[in-house]
Amino acid sequence: MKAIGIFGGAFAPFHNGHLRLAIEARERLQLNEVHLIPTAQPVHRPDSHVTPLRRLEWIKQAVRRERGLIADEREIMRDGPSFTVDTLIELREEYPQVALLLLMGADAFAHLHTWSRWEQLLELGHLVVFSRPGSTLEPSRETRKLLARRRAYDVSELHAAIAGHWYQFELPLLDISSTRIRRLLKSGHSVRGLVPDAILNTMTAADVAALTQDDDATTH
Ligand code: ATP
Repeated sequence: MKAIGIFGGAFAPFHNGHLRLAIEARERLQLNEVHLIPTAQPVHRPDSHVTPLRRLEWIKQAVRRERGLIADEREIMRDGPSFTVDTLIELREEYPQVALLLLMGADAFAHLHTWSRWEQLLELGHLVVFSRPGSTLEPSRETRKLLARRRAYDVSELHAAIAGHWYQFELPLLDISSTRIRRLLKSGHSVRGLVPDAILNTMTAADVAALTQDDDATTH
């Protein structure tokens, strides 16, 4: 085992955009595993009606046949919401010699300085910021000093050390969001093609009811 990707989110529900990103990361970043880690309680959506266990089950169903993609329950098994840095500390203890690549979107990267103990993230792993091809990525004013000399321009640099770099991972992101899926479900439309069939085929009326009760479905 040489390198592990870490991809967290609410995943309410997990969709093909998430799946595609995890697969591209595994292949292009040469990862042995990608851990998909649902949040215990989505910070920005405290009233989600979908239980963490159900969101975890959906990921399990979606990745059952995918080599190296792992539904990781560590955050939902802890009490209360988890900070990413604590999740990385735990993974680092489990995998002391493995490169840990934290996958995050450009939006999250722009707000990195607001994350708990963000400086420590780079001591624990690499940051891989995914973004659409051609987009430019600049660290925020608050993080610039620390990140200035730590940028990696080639995947090999991420494999040469277990932590300490950040890297722009350009890929064509599928135009899918969980919000859009919840909206479609709310208005009685099909979401086939957006959500993995393995999830759709076991989605119950209760799941749809829970998803469509989420705040975003009514307020966005
Ligand atoms: P919502 O619409 O409810 O905000 P979401 O679709 O953005 O949900 P989240 O569970 O909030 O999904 O996000 C988990 C992670 O997946 C985030 O890092 C987010 O940037 C990323 N992500 C979301 N949509 C896509 C996509 N289409 N392709 C790749 N990554 C995505």
